[in-house]
Amino acid sequence: KSTTVSNIDGSINNMEEDVEEDVVDLAANSLLNKLIRQSLVESSHRVEVLQKDPSSPLYSVKTFEELRLKEELLKGIYAMGFNRPSKIQEMALPMMLAHPPQNLIAQSQSGTGKTAAFVLAMLSRVNTLELFPQCLCLAPTYELALQTGRVVERMGKFCVDVQVMYAIRGNRIPRGTDVTKQIIIGTPGTVLDWCFKRKLIDLTKIRVFVLDEADVMIDTQGFSDQSIRIQRALPLECQMLLFSATFEESVWQFAERIIPDPNVIKLRKEELTLNNIRQYYVLCESRKDKYQALCNIYGGITIGQAIIFCQTRRNAKWLTVEMMQDGHQVSLLSGELTVDQRASIIQRFRDGKEKVLITTNVCARGIDVKQVTIVVNFDLPVNQAEEPDYETYLHRIGRTGRFGKKGLAFNMIEVDKLPLLMKIQDHFNSSIKQLDPEDMDEIE
Ligand code: ADP
Repeated sequence: KSTTVSNIDGSINNMEEDVEEDVVDLAANSLLNKLIRQSLVESSHRVEVLQKDPSSPLYSVKTFEELRLKEELLKGIYAMGFNRPSKIQEMALPMMLAHPPQNLIAQSQSGTGKTAAFVLAMLSRVNTLELFPQCLCLAPTYELALQTGRVVERMGKFCVDVQVMYAIRGNRIPRGTDVTKQIIIGTPGTVLDWCFKRKLIDLTKIRVFVLDEADVMIDTQGFSDQSIRIQRALPLECQMLLFSATFEESVWQFAERIIPDPNVIKLRKEELTLNNIRQYYVLCESRKDKYQALCNIYGGITIGQAIIFCQTRRNAKWLTVEMMQDGHQVSLLSGELTVDQRASIIQRFRDGKEKVLITTNVCARGIDVKQVTIVVNFDLPVNQAEEPDYETYLHRIGRTGRFGKKGLAFNMIEVDKLPLLMKIQDHFNSSIKQLDPEDMDEIE
């Protein structure tokens, strides 16, 4: 919704700019994560395993060789630069490749190796002599399906007889076409159409069914029901695998409906903490005043890279323009950009092409730029009720205890917002010191 307001001088204000960017698009975030991911995400937790049959032996592998994969598949894995299985792959791969096949529900944060694991399972189970769909993977969006397909193509580079096809909107297949590709990746709606209406896929011949990003899936109207309809038509012996980055009750309920007799694997997320972050606040009168304080801080200490958070697009834009006019190299990341544009801005920032990244709430999550030493809350994160948004504060500033470096955080506070800051301080039971922006000796 966009409300346009004409000013007295005839200019037009687009009120949309004032929207707080706190509506998180799960699918877009997930895609962004994939686009900017460079390596595995670590976790110091142990993998938790719940076997459907607790008396059966539990295998884990430390090398890919132990999995006795086809030569060309192993080659593909090494060509991707994988040396050893990730933490969840150690446990998940033996289960996924077992005979007879076992069903699995796996949850771990994005970046821990889930996609690579199920792609490997699909590739290893394809019978290349049979030219019909054998593995079916459901993804929440067109773009996410393509991303997974790319992994299949890379890992299966040397499996020349294995082919992928996308069941996504816009991929028009003439009626009566004989689909010979063994791996199908698609969104629930189109897959349903291909299976039931157009009869391009015979579900009774599917031997591996993957439901990826279950948490994003159930967030989309209709996808749960469509997925369940597809699942109901699969043969009993079909292996069913479900993956999710988060595991709220709703995801769990869905997972249990769709995956019969599952093994369950979980890897808890590394907790964020404020322990190794020094937090300060500066009292300000106005936006201009905040900007001045920011410049003083910026000039006063040697800064690696900084991320500055604003509550609205409008503030973020304003600040970007101000800083640019003062000769700083900054970039602006906001929700109106496409996911590809966001990914490229984050990439440039990571490469050190800009020292300052200005952004809104939408982008607070998931950006993990290790070299950032300073985070600035140009506006405090608040929710609709004008109460502090503790979770967002933690996501902006917190680091993981074990892998995170030390950091500095600055809050620019208008006097009337001070009570909010005090609430944040109490909530986290951590101290946020007042800073005189004219006197930076305090910090260094
Ligand atoms: P998820 O599906 O949990 O988000 P991915 O499978 O996409 O995780 O893996 C995250 C990143 O780590 C990707 O860049 C992927 O290529 C890489 N990766 C996955 N498994 C391994 C491994 N065993 N060794 C090294 N890198 C890996």
